[in-house]
Amino acid sequence: MALRNLRVDGDSLLRKKSKPVTDITKGVMILLDDMVDTMKHSSGAGLAAPQVGILKRAVVIEHEGTVYEMINPEITDMDGTQRSQEACLSIPGMVGDVERPNKLVVTYTDRKGDEHTMPAEERLAIIVAHEVDHLDGILYKDRATVFRHRKPSDDEEE
Ligand code: ZN
Repeated sequence: MALRNLRVDGDSLLRKKSKPVTDITKGVMILLDDMVDTMKHSSGAGLAAPQVGILKRAVVIEHEGTVYEMINPEITDMDGTQRSQEACLSIPGMVGDVERPNKLVVTYTDRKGDEHTMPAEERLAIIVAHEVDHLDGILYKDRATVFRHRKPSDDEEE
């Protein structure tokens, strides 16, 4: 278990498309462990592998006390819209207003190789959509209608 260095906006790697994970190797498990450590250490709600310099389709999310490790996550259904404020560990000091689906369904594989189909709504749907975007080289600021410097009252980071 270890912390990994975070890539920040301006790093071209954040704009590349990540490749599917074909084998859940020891290296993938160590990556997931390190991503969870790095997310918690940075007080983030989620982290995608490209944010630590790895172009593999893997994300970790912490929501209401549960940690999700998603390998090859794919959004298969979306419904409604919601607009809220987002931030990103790779864009320090900034926040933005983004429109996201209100509900979605994400399919993913866990580290044991088991497949999951998980509905998510409200805040969790935002975090899933934000992290899956990272795997396609998309940053929330690309979708933001307002993009501004963080104030002390702002607190969430993905
Ligand atoms: Zn992010």
